[in-house]
Amino acid sequence: MLADSQPRLRVAICGGGVGGLTLAFQLSKVPDVHVDVYEAASRFAEIGAGIAIPQRPRRLFAEMGLEQDVVALAGNPPATKGVRQDVGPDLQFWSADSGELEHVYDKASTGGVLTVHRAEFHALLLSCLPAHTRTHASKRLVSYVPPVSLDTPITLKFDDGSEATCDVLVGADGIKSTVRVRMLEDLAAREDREGVAQKALLEAVPPRYSGMTSYRTVIPREKLERAAPEHPYLGENKVVVVCTREAPSMLMIRPFKMFICFPISKGKLINVSVSVMDFSTEGTLHPEPWASPGDAAQLNAFFDGWAAEARHIISCMEGCDIKRWVVNVVRPLPTFADGRVVLLGDAAHAMTPYLGAGAGQAVEDAYILAILFSHSHTTVPTMPSILRRYSEVRLPVTTDLAATSAELGRIYSMQIRLSREEFGRRVQELFDRLEREDPVEEAQRLIAELDESSGTKKSDTG
Ligand SMILES: Cc1cc2nc3c(=O)[nH]c(=O)nc-3n(C[C@H](O)[C@H](O)[C@H](O)COP(=O)(O)OP(=O)(O)OC[C@H]3O[C@@H](n4cnc5c(N)ncnc54)[C@H](O)[C@@H]3O)c2cc1C
Repeated sequence: MLADSQPRLRVAICGGGVGGLTLAFQLSKVPDVHVDVYEAASRFAEIGAGIAIPQRPRRLFAEMGLEQDVVALAGNPPATKGVRQDVGPDLQFWSADSGELEHVYDKASTGGVLTVHRAEFHALLLSCLPAHTRTHASKRLVSYVPPVSLDTPITLKFDDGSEATCDVLVGADGIKSTVRVRMLEDLAAREDREGVAQKALLEAVPPRYSGMTSYRTVIPREKLERAAPEHPYLGENKVVVVCTREAPSMLMIRPFKMFICFPISKGKLINVSVSVMDFSTEGTLHPEPWASPGDAAQLNAFFDGWAAEARHIISCMEGCDIKRWVVNVVRPLPTFADGRVVLLGDAAHAMTPYLGAGAGQAVEDAYILAILFSHSHTTVPTMPSILRRYSEVRLPVTTDLAATSAELGRIYSMQIRLSREEFGRRVQELFDRLEREDPVEEAQRLIAELDESSGTKKSDTG
């Protein structure tokens, strides 16, 4: 079917980040689904710094036909073709507590973790969109009007005064999601009377401070090679985490710290993220801005007394464009969907970055939604039940991974004190949760359900 003929579904994706573009890419393969992507920024782009892609989203990239492109971007491309089957270390933990680096544990996983530059990864997704997927920049959604009946459209309202309509609205608009705010307020308004359920819905609307503030930048590998040719990071070219504990004399605030560095841009750049944790204000509303310029001099002061290997990396951050991020999270929501409106990615479940799962989970949401929208049985009238099913499947997985990530944060910051053996065992157990279910199998189960409920043969599905 041609893109301009009568579609089975008109999908509006609000937000052109990793999650929104993954959904747009997958749906671009379905001829009778029309897609519009509305992005608030004046151009579709990502800011710098790296993201880690574990095996779970990598399996999805393989299904989407993008795995080779993503591997080609990685800072740590696998050495051999068969590496996906191998179990090996991909994350080294070192303690810098004593002023000397001490190796603590090597986390292992099947196939390892790919580490990529966010902007390069985002540009890859954007470049894969065909011309018939319409993308609209400078379109900040400010509100939407839900449909008045089963088959009337949803009206979208943008900050430039313009409007558009769609059959399904996907809120892929990140942690500050406008769609989440409206959706939860609508659900709360429909609660019979003010009570526990209504309070829970309204409390889930604003993001909450996670207790973590991160300073992120990228440094050229050459810079570290010149400053410290013997640095252990240079030998390994793997992900390195260094944790330490603040001197107990600062007992009133107990600000814990860690930093992580990993290779991106085919190994030419090192992504560095230095984090300071203070859980005393966790769960509160943090004033904006959440992103601001970072200061290398301030970092030097934070890391006074650390092992030389850690300070070498901090000194290489001088002169680089450092961003300070106040990391917020979205509390577990009661649902990701209401009628024909649905949330994905950070809009639904922004989590702490300790597990490196946020972007992968946005990709997974998008993959599952695309599978559901692609099925010929999925139409405007069946959409509310389809989206309820999506929510039933995705909510428990993402809630569990968010809790797993939060526990890792408490272990890294040494708020949970563990012996060296316990540390290794628990960290490995928590990372292994990422591999517990196979999202491709999950998607296949959903297709089988839809086939059964509609009497559709497998060969009829897109
Ligand atoms: C410090 C830090 C480190 C991280 N490290 C990792 C990591 O190593 N691995 C990992 O997997 N994840 C990591 N994450 C998480 C990851 O960045 C997010 O989970 C991921 O970007 C979510 O993608 P998304 O598409 O849902 O949202 P976003 O990437 O936030 O995209 C949302 C898009 O919506 C647009 N938008 C917003 N409001 C509107 C509106 N009203 N109308 C239209 N458009 C709108 C925005 O401009 C943006 O383009 C990290 C996060 C942080 C803060």
